[in-house]
Parts: sequence; C-alpha cells; structure tokens
Amino acid sequence: MASLTRDEAQERAGRIGVEGYHLVLDLDVGDQHFGSVTTIRFTATPGSSTFVDVAPHELRSVTLNGEPVDVDEAFDPATRRLRLTDLPDANELVVDATMSYSHDGEGLHRHVDPADKLPYIYAMSFLAAAPRWYACFDQPDLKAPVEMEISCPDDWVVFGNGPATKAGPGRWTIASTGPLATYFTTLVAGPYHVIRDEHDGIPLSLSVRQSLAEHLDRDAPALFAHTKHCLDELHMLFGVRYPWGDYHQAFVPQFNAGAMENPGCVTFRDTLVFRSRVTDNERLVRDVTIAHEMAHMWFGDLVTMRWWDDLWLNESFAEYLGSRVTGERSWVDFGIHRKSWGFAADRRPSTHPVAGNGAADAASALSEFDGISYAKGASVLRQLALHLGDEMFFDGLRRYIRSHAEGNAEFAQLMAAWAEAGAAHLDTWASKWLRTTGLDELSVDGGTLRRTSADGTARVHAIAVAGFTTHGAEVAATRTTIESDHTAVEVDGDILVADALDETWAKIALPAAAWEQMPTALPWIGEARTRVALWNAMQLAVADAELDPSLAFEIVAAGLPIESDDGVIAEVGRWATRTLAGCYVPDDARPAVLARLSGAALGLADVAEPKSARQLAAIRVAIGAAIDPDRLLLWLDEQDLPAGILVDAELRWAIVGRLAALGAVGPGFIDAEAQADLSSQGIVHATRCRAALPDPAAKEAAWTALMTDDERANYELYALAEGFWHPHQLSLTEPYVARYFDEVDGTAKLRSGWVVERLALMTYPWPAVDDATVEYTEELLSGDGLDGRIRRAVTDAGDDLRRAVASRHRFLG
Ligand SMILES: [Zn+2]
Repeated sequence: MASLTRDEAQERAGRIGVEGYHLVLDLDVGDQHFGSVTTIRFTATPGSSTFVDVAPHELRSVTLNGEPVDVDEAFDPATRRLRLTDLPDANELVVDATMSYSHDGEGLHRHVDPADKLPYIYAMSFLAAAPRWYACFDQPDLKAPVEMEISCPDDWVVFGNGPATKAGPGRWTIASTGPLATYFTTLVAGPYHVIRDEHDGIPLSLSVRQSLAEHLDRDAPALFAHTKHCLDELHMLFGVRYPWGDYHQAFVPQFNAGAMENPGCVTFRDTLVFRSRVTDNERLVRDVTIAHEMAHMWFGDLVTMRWWDDLWLNESFAEYLGSRVTGERSWVDFGIHRKSWGFAADRRPSTHPVAGNGAADAASALSEFDGISYAKGASVLRQLALHLGDEMFFDGLRRYIRSHAEGNAEFAQLMAAWAEAGAAHLDTWASKWLRTTGLDELSVDGGTLRRTSADGTARVHAIAVAGFTTHGAEVAATRTTIESDHTAVEVDGDILVADALDETWAKIALPAAAWEQMPTALPWIGEARTRVALWNAMQLAVADAELDPSLAFEIVAAGLPIESDDGVIAEVGRWATRTLAGCYVPDDARPAVLARLSGAALGLADVAEPKSARQLAAIRVAIGAAIDPDRLLLWLDEQDLPAGILVDAELRWAIVGRLAALGAVGPGFIDAEAQADLSSQGIVHATRCRAALPDPAAKEAAWTALMTDDERANYELYALAEGFWHPHQLSLTEPYVARYFDEVDGTAKLRSGWVVERLALMTYPWPAVDDATVEYTEELLSGDGLDGRIRRAVTDAGDDLRRAVASRHRFLG
C-alpha cells in the first residue's frame, strides 16, 4: 500500500473539490465481510485525472457519471488507488465493494465478546484507515458532509458522526452534520448498552458492550458530570458553541489509542470502563482524556490541519486543554507521566522539532505522533500562555477558530491570529521552541540560574525557583523569566530547585551534594509538582549516567513509602521495577533490590488508609516487584494482606502474572484462572501469563505468534510481547536476542498500522543489557531497506538500552 505524499495531496486538492459522501453499509452479511457502497459527488478541473482510495476485499463494480469503469484496468490493489480519468466538472462516482472486517483496531473492527459471544463493531479511520471501510479521497483537506444508511441485525444500535435514527427493522440512517475530514469519520454498531442524558440542549450518550454494562452504569453519573463541565468550560474558552449536534462517547473493544476524537462520536478504549478498583489518578487520566477529545471537537475537527505536518498542533492543544479544563491536579500526572514520556523521546536520536519534519507522507506523520507532539507541545503552549497571558492567548485562539471554522488551516494562520490579538515578536519565540530539538538544562548555583542549550538555542523560560532544607522544608521561592544563559536569582536553601512548579520543558540539573541529600529531602517536600520535577530530574540523571543507580534506588526506597500522590507512586514504582531494577542494576544485585522495593511498597500499603488509592497503587508495586512466590500465593488467597486490599479481577491477574513469571504456577493454573474470568480482559491476561512462563515451549509459542501470526487480535499480541521478556529469565530467552534482529523486519509485511511499530518496540530484547545487544542494534540499523516503522522502534529501544549499558560501565566498571 502506498502512503499518500504531501505533493500528491496538494495536487489532488488542486484538481477536485468533494461535495458529499453517501455510504450504504450492509453489516448483516456474515462475520468476515460487509457490503460498502460509496457514492461521492465531486467537482474536478475538466479533463483532469485523479484517484480515489479504496482497500476492498472485492471491488464489485465502479461507475463514474453513470458509465461503468473497467476495474481491472483502473484499480491497483498494491497502492489501493482507483484511477479516474478525463473528468468533467461535476461528477458522481459509485464504488460498490465487499470489505473485510479488521482485527487490528483500524478500519471497521469487529470483536466477538468471549463473555457472551455478542459481536461489536466500530470504525477507526485515523490516520489512513478510512479506505478500509469506504472509498474516499483520503486526505485531511478534502472535507465534505458524510451521510450513511446502515443495515444490521434488528437488536443493534448504531452511532455515527451525525445523529443516528432507526428507519425500520435493522435499518438506520446517520445524518450529515458539518464537513468531515475522512480521518475522523466513524461508525459504532452492535448490541451495545446505551445510557442517555442531556446538557445545555446537547443530547449526550455513553455506550459499552453488554458485559461491561453494570460498570458503565456505576460510573455514568461521574462521566456525565465531567462531560458537562468540559462542555461549559470549552464553550467559554473557544467562544463558539459545540458544532456537531449530539455528543456520544463510545467505549469500544481492542482500541489501539486511548481515544479518538471523531466529531459527535468519540471512541475510547473500553478498559476505561473499570471493572475492578482503580486509583484516583486512573480516574483523573480518564477525565483528562474526555476533556482532550472534546477539545478536538473545535481544534482539529471544526478547524482541521491542512496536512499532517500540523498534527502536533492538534495534539499539543488537546493535551494542554485536557489538563487545564480538568483541573490543577492534572498537571501532577502530566508531569510524572506524560512529560517523562516526552523527555525520553526528545533525547533520542529520532527526536524531531515539535513542529515536525514536514511529514513528506502520511506514514511518516504517524511516526512523529509521539511524546514530543503531545507532552512537549503542550508544555510549549503552557509556556506560551505564561508568556502572552491568558487573555491574549485565548483571544488569538478564538479568532483562529472563528476565521477557519469548517475549513482547514495551517500553523502560520494561528500565529497570525495571535498577532491580531496583540502578540509581538512571536515568530522568534516560537521558532526557538518549535523548530528545534532537545532540552535546555537548568540549574541554580549560588545566586545564578544557569541555562545550557546543547544546540545554542536561547529559549525563554518562565519558571519558579525554590530553596529547601536537607529535610525538604521550603525556605524560599521566587518567580523569574530566563532570557540569558546566566540569570541572577535570590533564593536561600541547602537544595535549590529550578522550575520548582514543573512548568517548563527542561532537564533540571542538581549538584552531586544535592543528590546525596535527596533521600531525606525529596519525600518531605510538600508541593507535589516540585517532587515531580525532582523525580523526573532523577530519571534523567540516571539515564545520562550522571547519577549512580544505587543512590537513585535509595531515593526511591525513602520517597515511595511517604509519597502522597497515587499517580506518582504508580509511575515511580513502575520505573524503579522495570527500568532501574530491570536494566540498570546488575543481575546479582537485582533480587535484593526488588525485595526491598516490594517491601517499601508493602510498607506504604500497610500504613495507607484502607481502601485508598494510595494503598492500591502501593500494593500493585509490591506485587510487580515481589520475588517470594509463597507470599504471592498467600495474597492470592487474600491472606497476609494489608487491611482494605480487595483481590478483585484485575489485582488477581497481577498476582497470577507475577507468579507465572517467577515460574511458581504452570499452564494448568493459568487455564483455570482463565476459565474463571471469561471476559476479553481475562483472555488478554491469560495470554500474557502464558508468555511469561519460564518454559521453552511457552517462549517458543509466544515468539512464533509475535513474528508470524497475522490473525491474532492486537490486544493479544501486545500481551504476548509484555509477557515475553523478564530480566531474570535471560538464560532461557538468550537465543531470542539474535532472533529479534533477524526476524523483526519481517513483521512489517505481516501487519499494518499502529501495531507494527508498537510490537517492534515491545519485543525488543530490553533486558539483554550488554555490548552484544548494542552491536546487534547498530548492525541492523546500518543496513538499507529496513521498514521505517521498524527502524524507529529499534532506534528508540536501542537508545534506552545503550544508556543502561553506559551507566553499568561507569558505575559497575
Ligand atoms: Zn488527541
């Protein structure tokens, strides 16, 4: 399949204009395929030629302006392009096709719920998957109204971008609202459970598959309350009313992303409908996701980027507004969770400017859809809001939305809107933040705040600086704007922290003496955002081989039991288990480190308020780092646990997963657990557990599926990859280190879309921290012809590994 290039898109947009799509979909013709008849009305430069994108199972017939088109001649299955030649100015194209349901979360995805055998369907068109379910001119700047007629079993409900109406037994129509870009057209159909509400004249609804109905019912009041809050806030901030009629939020199975901003019909992964207890932070993250997708209704959907090179702008804005609209506490999660994702991306060889590399084609845009587009971009916008002030920032935004509503726009037009709102010299400011890569390093030394830019870029930072005693008491704080490499700043204290409120995008550097004091200081710092800044600084210092991993572990062991934010407990616990203990600590020291980490987390679970989010976050860390199978078996029996811990379905699978990895249970035990949990999640967990068993046959089965199975559903593949590698199993998995480098490129031909890069990243032999793996990595990357997505994954995972090797060489000799 060919990825549309920017030049091709420009040429096509110059020749045609799309007036409307009419889709007739038959979802009642079996479980493999569906009927898809697309009628497209479009104008063209007379005499010109172009192509339409379509990826059919079978192309039954095509007519252009009433005349049959010779499909054999006009259609190239390799590129998924159907050529249209010698066009008059007004055209009607009818493409009649049989299409295949997908199992990878893109196109029209069909999932049969193992709990009750009911089928559920949804469409995911992002980034170039719309042609997998209907014929279209698939590029973001050919927007057009889309209406649909659906045939399906009579007990199904149907939702789409516009309001859906049942027209007869098993027949639905979806009305057209405003012009849609193809990448956010959607359809949700199946025997879904639906809950309705209304706010400010806008019909609201939620849906989920039947087996999760009780869990959605329980959370619906909170979900609707937050949805209404977000609508009110975004109406105020954008100054334009929600433009898409109904607002439906569909929780759907096996969804690759967190959610997708289809106008009028947002799709979310249905693991966000919680069937077991979750932490406060997990609820907060769901709220941020709801706000993020809703922000796209204006920014992205109503005003759409012209080409994928402005994708960052969509995501940076939605990320910024998602946290801002949800509330102050969101910034703590943004710091510990999203920023650490972005920091890693911005320090790798694959880093790129926030404003992208131009995205020569659609596929390369997908690879830039990373922690830089989201977390760094949102941090830059946060700095911009501080720089311009809220009033000017939102005045510019409102001008931009009003001027380009229902159309397309580019970044330059947003800059122009800010200039109209009164912003001066914004080009210089923006180019330093958006056209460069990497992080400045900030440190405070005596009365001087130092800024070091590796590339000489002089970025402006608006930050707070605070001073603390060696026991974490704040003694002084001030605000300043950094405009040169040396800024005078007056702050007292034994430990001086730049960016103490975690507001900018920089590496915060500390002197060795400050790190030595961190085990007694960090835990007692009252402001969560300062602790987040320091936890991130610690991770970066470890990754740069500046901080001894054993000292970092002392900081974790001291800080984790006192940490008050459950999101921070989860993230620091995860990092300490997988990265610090898994990659940076030598093999012989690992058991003791994990035992101490598990013990520290258990200590927190013991003293935390029973049933609190902190307690739940802590026990998960204790389970993940546990090395004593007898204790885990007791926990599985709900014995010897801190009061308040409930071993519900998800916690039970966490314990079974750890037992499997330790080799304390076998396949029969996992089968019995799977029999007791016949849900989609149960199947995924059992798949992960089987792959984790320290058994040659289990590893071979998992590996073969990962490298050769093109039928397995995306979630099961992710579970196999998660279960496969464990640092303490390296003697068993050693042969797969070399096999990864031989076999991974073949997976690019096996599968398509998001799954390819994600699996290449997850199956990389991350626990094999040695020079040999570095050499394998370099050898693979030095070759020509490697698939771009595989190259990106191997580059990124290889960089993480190289850092761990460098740290071991420095601190272990
Ligand atoms: Zn988004």
